[in-house]
Amino acid sequence: MPLVRAADSEADQRRVAGELRARGIGRGERLVVSAGASPQLLAVVLGALRSGVVPVVLDPALPAAERAALVADADPALDVGDDPGRLVGDADADLAEFPLARPMHYTSGTTGRRKGVWSGVLADDDARALAREEIDLWGFTGTDRHLQLSPLHHSAPLRFATHTLLAGGEVLLPGPFDATRLAATITAQRPTTTFCVPTHLQRLLREDVDWSSFRLLAHAGAPCPEPTKRAVLAALPDGAVQEFYGSTEVQFTVCSTADWLAAPGSVGRARPGRRLSTDERGQLWCEVPRWARFEYWRAPEKTAAAWDGDRVTVGDLGRVDDDGTVWLDGRREDLVISGGVNVYPAEVEAVLDGHPDVVESAVFGVPDDEWGQRVVAAYVGPVAPEELSAWARERLAPAKRPKSVHRIPDLPRTSTGKVRRLDLPGVLGL
Ligand code: ATP
Repeated sequence: MPLVRAADSEADQRRVAGELRARGIGRGERLVVSAGASPQLLAVVLGALRSGVVPVVLDPALPAAERAALVADADPALDVGDDPGRLVGDADADLAEFPLARPMHYTSGTTGRRKGVWSGVLADDDARALAREEIDLWGFTGTDRHLQLSPLHHSAPLRFATHTLLAGGEVLLPGPFDATRLAATITAQRPTTTFCVPTHLQRLLREDVDWSSFRLLAHAGAPCPEPTKRAVLAALPDGAVQEFYGSTEVQFTVCSTADWLAAPGSVGRARPGRRLSTDERGQLWCEVPRWARFEYWRAPEKTAAAWDGDRVTVGDLGRVDDDGTVWLDGRREDLVISGGVNVYPAEVEAVLDGHPDVVESAVFGVPDDEWGQRVVAAYVGPVAPEELSAWARERLAPAKRPKSVHRIPDLPRTSTGKVRRLDLPGVLGL
């Protein structure tokens, strides 16, 4: 199993920088690669970033047409496809100490078309500040061994891996997610840090895992069910579990073990250096430092809608308590407005999920002549639809009750485990 050491990667990164220079690829130009995690991929990403070139890592499993559309959108100087090793040449070139650019990522497209998130090239001071901020937040050092669980085409997993290497640590690449094999890997390799999504936690918690080597397990990306959270807190060393709330664009919060235990179900407080607020529509806004700014690639109208001075929103709805604790209510795009009443799918799902025979549920709106939109639920689990409707009737105000509930074998999900509510009307033929 590949174990990437900082010093070895650094040598490869220099050769990538040499190759980029030889090919005349300069600052701010894009470099597309669509490959699974490998030492070469990490070297290409870091070699590019430390040369000011912007890597665009695409999901290697993308259908050809979708990939072609993203490549056309990214307009790269070079596309190395599934072979990042092609760019690890023979001639060395110098690297900046810290990344002079941020990778361009495409959002998951859970709420519509994928958007490229672009930060351009950074001045040296900003590059240093950005890297230090990330390394200090998670406390990465040369003694860390990071276990890579999520695909590197997503922003958070790539950040964890690259910053571990920048701090002098090691990155362990176990390959495709397989909970049973991972349990053995964790016992044998004793990683100190990892980043994952709640689905990974649910799968790993079914295995016999020796978690004692972890000083940090960070999770984000989707709501973590409370039983899963409590189980992971009980399994890991005290204080090792941290959650955060963020998106491809920006990280809003951090939630330490103590924060979560004091306010179960919250996503913690503003990440250091950020300030959070809400507007009259309940959207969360985050004030970010200069080096964390971004725009939507070649979409000035989307960029303008997301920013208000130094504050940015990605359309999540939530609340910030007086003590700064943040609670998420869902996403603006998911909000169902039925008969003029705002219905947050997350609230209805929490009620449905509370039924002992519901494994999971997803709530969404469909157009309705009378109500504007009506609330509909899909769920996985053995309970009969009539019984679940009765359960909801007893517990929800009329406007929030699903007008119909549908049992399905699985909820449609993105590769990061997020439910694709947009697909549900089609799946159910509504
Ligand atoms: P698109 O913007 O194209 O729809 P996406 O936003 O689904 O894509 P991501 O950036 O991967 O793609 O997802 C970020 C979203 O995930 C956040 O905006 C938020 O809604 C949700 N999320 C992230 N962290 C958490 C968390 N800790 N708890 C609950 N939800 C979370």
